[in-house]
Amino acid sequence: MERGILFDTCPHCGDRGYEHLITYSHCVNCLFVHDRYESEEMIPPWARVEFREYSKKIDRQLRVISGGTP
Ligand SMILES: [Zn+2]
Repeated sequence: MERGILFDTCPHCGDRGYEHLITYSHCVNCLFVHDRYESEEMIPPWARVEFREYSKKIDRQLRVISGGTP
């Protein structure tokens, strides 16, 4: 038994060459790519807020470490 690659209808061009892979989907016809991890619906709103706050904290710490000079 061959493990089939799931081809779907491309949301971009409508071709039946839209291939679903683990981390992303892409169309062999128009090269449209949909990255699952980058897509907004995969990231819950709280996670986006957390990440933004975390980035701010890291940024502040980096400034302290590299700092000394105001
Ligand atoms: Zn396409």
